[in-house]
Amino acid sequence: MDLPALKARLQAEVQARTELLIDASHQIHAHPEVNYEERFAHDLLCGILEAEGLAVERGACDLDTAFLARAGTSGPTIAVLCEYDALPGLGHACGHNIIATAGLGAGLAAAAVADDVGGQILVVGTPAEEGGGGKILMAQRGAFEGVDAALMVHPAGAELTRMHVIAVQELTATYRGQAAHAAAAPHQGRNALDAAVLGYLNVAALRQHIRPSERIHGIFTAGGDKPNIVPALARTEWMVRSDTIATLTPLKERVAACLRAGADAAGCEVEIAWKSVVYADMLDNEVLVARYRANAAALGRQVREPDDTAVVVGSTDMGNVSYLVPSIHPMIQAAPAGVPIHTPEFERSAAAPLGDDAVVDGATALAWTVADLWLGDGVLEAATREHEATMAGVGADARRSAIGG
Ligand SMILES: [Zn+2]
Ligand SMILES: [Zn+2]
Repeated sequence: MDLPALKARLQAEVQARTELLIDASHQIHAHPEVNYEERFAHDLLCGILEAEGLAVERGACDLDTAFLARAGTSGPTIAVLCEYDALPGLGHACGHNIIATAGLGAGLAAAAVADDVGGQILVVGTPAEEGGGGKILMAQRGAFEGVDAALMVHPAGAELTRMHVIAVQELTATYRGQAAHAAAAPHQGRNALDAAVLGYLNVAALRQHIRPSERIHGIFTAGGDKPNIVPALARTEWMVRSDTIATLTPLKERVAACLRAGADAAGCEVEIAWKSVVYADMLDNEVLVARYRANAAALGRQVREPDDTAVVVGSTDMGNVSYLVPSIHPMIQAAPAGVPIHTPEFERSAAAPLGDDAVVDGATALAWTVADLWLGDGVLEAATREHEATMAGVGADARRSAIGG
């Protein structure tokens, strides 16, 4: 089979499953499940993949709602990623039902031809994108070993080559002092609330001297029980964001220094606990972005670079995957122009005709990009070379921060 014949076959395979894919999308949409509770979506997707003969590992990587589904026995292994978690209170306002079923459609179509073509497909069910870092844990547990490239598509109110992804990590600072009667023996106390307040003010001063694109936001979650008791315990929680995981590292150190200085000044102790998952920036593979863009254009979707009129800024654990293998995270239009994700209007659109079209076209564009990687002349080699060059540029420290272990 040559590449045009393969693409025609893949499109026919997706079209034959249109009803199945849209039905699955609507079912997931109607059963929104948050981080690591996506049992309905996990079981639905695994059942469909098993029924079509893929080798499915349910609860993969020691995560109840993750899965890995494989087909093909030789040739390059291309991963297609499915997200399916929803937002608390907002349902599928990020449209992950579309990601799940576009990935499902691409995976089923590719699986149907994998052995004829000499390619391998891995459908990866990745839970908890919204803050739980499912892809990061799966990556640490080997899900992407032997994978040559990783593809997914995210719905949006625009047709874009990429999301503007920034790195983020969360921390909790717990201050401990010495309780005392605030009137009778204040000199015996060491005030943990003062320590936390001073730490907060230090960060406020720091904010004047960080890059304009960086963000640090914090709240107090504990600060004493009664005014006449010197607080022995106080706690603040923070999100620290920077453009890349490399620039995040020094910013984290500056924030930690501010928080510690508050403790020192007040004669208290502080314990700074960083959340174990760090969302990296996204290293979009331009070779693959170009292939996706051409494939989407053939379906009548004009994918463009983000600009002031259309951009989606956020964080995603796909960024971490992009530090491991050549990866893309294009945005497919699934809502009227300009409707932002994480809104009730986007939630409605995710199961309406615009969202349904995005499932079918997303599946086809992804399947065609798999075809380019399997059979395209030099595509996989060029994508791999680009990835190696990019990784040489970001350095070992950033790679360690992105994948950790
Ligand atoms: Zn989201
Ligand atoms: Zn999302």
